[in-house]
Amino acid sequence: MPELTKKPTEYYFKAVKLNQLDDSLQQEIKLKCGVDVETCMECGKCSGGCSNTHIFDITPRQMIKLIKMGREEPLLSMDSLWTCVSCQLCVDRCPSRIDIPRVMDYLREKACQQGIKPTREQVKLFNELMLGSIMKTGRVEESLLAVKFNLKTGNYFKDADLGRQMFFKGKLKAFGPRVKNLKKIRQIFNDTIQKEG
Ligand code: SF4
Ligand code: SF4
Repeated sequence: MPELTKKPTEYYFKAVKLNQLDDSLQQEIKLKCGVDVETCMECGKCSGGCSNTHIFDITPRQMIKLIKMGREEPLLSMDSLWTCVSCQLCVDRCPSRIDIPRVMDYLREKACQQGIKPTREQVKLFNELMLGSIMKTGRVEESLLAVKFNLKTGNYFKDADLGRQMFFKGKLKAFGPRVKNLKKIRQIFNDTIQKEG
């Protein structure tokens, strides 16, 4: 995929002719994520309620609009892919219950598969370590995750003092309790890998 020559938002504001709209991305999202963006009313409640929209370059509402417009290029390169925290607030507020974090997940995965460089390398690393922890132990081992993240990013003592204080206040455990059905969780990962592979 060629490098973007414009900011993602410039794609959003570019005029398009209605008879030139391409609905293939909209159909793909419907098929792969089970999300029908056609039901979006553009009310903006998702963007208004989003916990991280202040650091997004493309808001959730704009994202849905770009999908309708078939503009995949800016969507795969947007910073919002790496700053959405899947908190589900947008889904709760949406009158059509459009699952925006599911779409974010799908687009993030697609961007990775196409070798598009993430705007925030460290977020990608954190995401990989977190998923690795869930696959291995069934939960996020916070202490271990923080240590691994610091080692990989070369910030060996980042938040060490805060971690120590949390540990002594009982807010941080060295190892969390194991989940009951780890096999089931690993099965979910394997099924997903097979489905998307
Ligand atoms: S809240 Fe739902 S319907 Fe409203 S703009 Fe966002 S996605 Fe569309
Ligand atoms: S799931 Fe993502 S897009 Fe939705 S409100 Fe949370 S941070 Fe915003």
